[in-house]
Amino acid sequence: MKTPMALAAMTALLLPATLSAQSATDPVFTAAAMRAHVEFLADDLLQGRDTGSEGHEIAARYVASQFDGLGLKPAGDKGTWLQRITFQKTEFGKTPATLIVTGPAGAKSFTHAGDVIVGINADQPHLDVTAPLVFVGFGLENARLGLNDYAGLDVKGKIVVTLRGYPKGLPSEEGAHLSATKGKIAESHGAIGMIALNTLQSAKARPWARMVQFADEPDFTWVSPEGVPFNAAPGLRASAMLNDPAAQAVFAGAPTTIAAIRKAADKAGGKPKGFALKTSVTIKADTVSQRVTSPNVVAILPGSDPKLRQEYVVLSAHLDHIGISPAKAGDAADESGNRDRINNGALDNGAGIATMLEVARAMAQSPDKPRRSIIFLASTAEEKGLLGADYFARHPTVPVKQIVGNVDLDMPLLLYPFTDVIAFGADHSTLGPIVAKAVAPMGVKLAPDPMPQETIFVRSDHYMFVKQGVPAVFLATGYANGGEKAWGEFLGGAYHHPGDDMMQKIDWNAGARFADANYRITRAMADGDAPPRWFAKDFFGDLFAPQAEKATR
Ligand SMILES: [Zn+2]
Repeated sequence: MKTPMALAAMTALLLPATLSAQSATDPVFTAAAMRAHVEFLADDLLQGRDTGSEGHEIAARYVASQFDGLGLKPAGDKGTWLQRITFQKTEFGKTPATLIVTGPAGAKSFTHAGDVIVGINADQPHLDVTAPLVFVGFGLENARLGLNDYAGLDVKGKIVVTLRGYPKGLPSEEGAHLSATKGKIAESHGAIGMIALNTLQSAKARPWARMVQFADEPDFTWVSPEGVPFNAAPGLRASAMLNDPAAQAVFAGAPTTIAAIRKAADKAGGKPKGFALKTSVTIKADTVSQRVTSPNVVAILPGSDPKLRQEYVVLSAHLDHIGISPAKAGDAADESGNRDRINNGALDNGAGIATMLEVARAMAQSPDKPRRSIIFLASTAEEKGLLGADYFARHPTVPVKQIVGNVDLDMPLLLYPFTDVIAFGADHSTLGPIVAKAVAPMGVKLAPDPMPQETIFVRSDHYMFVKQGVPAVFLATGYANGGEKAWGEFLGGAYHHPGDDMMQKIDWNAGARFADANYRITRAMADGDAPPRWFAKDFFGDLFAPQAEKATR
């Protein structure tokens, strides 16, 4: 048996040069620790960690136990680790929803999941709405960006017909944000419903056949502590998306064809003008609601600086995933003939949670604690529409004014030795330069968003902090050194499929380095003399944090 000393000497010789440059107090991140977390979270026993499921509850206890072992402070409800949220889950009843178009060409009836997709309105279990239609172009309004699609149109008591998306050439993140608020814009003009039509571009990005696959997904919304289900635009009673045959029926007798409108909208800056249509629709749907609960897991590491510890940096990652897929023909069978339908979510987002836990461990064990306090948030119901993070950002367990920044970890692709990172949203605040500087000593670069068309800035939990005025970024591994290929293959393959499991060739060393990068980023946010700040004249900073002190770009 070799002596420990001889072993240590041998190991030292094998260490890569970069490691020898570390100081004694620098935390160490290991592949084994990363793998161990994901191994547990992606186990079949957790059944894909669906919101409200037992598997997710077990995962939540795992995270809480880890926090507990690190000596963090519970920051959920009443001194516990969990912030329990009630959700209203609504599904269609047995009678299929219908949409009937009436106009100069007579009446035409369409059934849900055929050429129309009817939206669920949880407030109306027996929806039956009839109203005339008004085409409103993209249905957007924003003075700063020169959008006023409702000018001169009377939509009071009517259902508006909009094109999906936003005019070509609009900055993608601003465009995506505005698109997500179309319902509220319509409601503010007195409309009682909204119908959306594909553009040439959106039809390519999301073909109708794909959209129909998700037509019967249940609708989730969080219920406030007062017992009221959240509805962003309660005045908007009916909603639907239309495929071509239904779109053509709606435009019967119109001065312009839908084909001509789509062509105009496809040009750079194309903003088709709205007009009253000669048709009306009746939308009918029966829905059934139930309540389920699911927790966020929240912990605090108190800051070391007596002044700055009143400020909080949030490191978040969603713990939920999409559960078990319904059985369908052609599912891959294993050697015993069982079809794997469990969406294990190893990378989405076991890997993000593992990263957060390893950063928490390094922070908690660091001899010099971060100056600001850190909140670690394992959110629920991200896959249902960023609901757990939205709930936390609206009902935080510390005053929201004291939350100064957020880094969100969602689906880091630990499939290759990354050499760059992407911080979605980095252009809007000092978080861009903070991230770039923090990872530079690792030889890692901050790359610009390589897929702006995907508008990822508004598609994960950090966006809910942005909406409360908090500068935030979503951090992911970049396109360099094999990243682009890995992203393409993952999004077209294992993403939201049972294949996102431990059978993937996960590069756990990349995982350890990703944890290291996020440790450095979170520390830089926590230790800087100034907190992260929105840049002056930034669209999102001005919109959501008009009073906050801004930084010069
Ligand atoms: Zn996901």
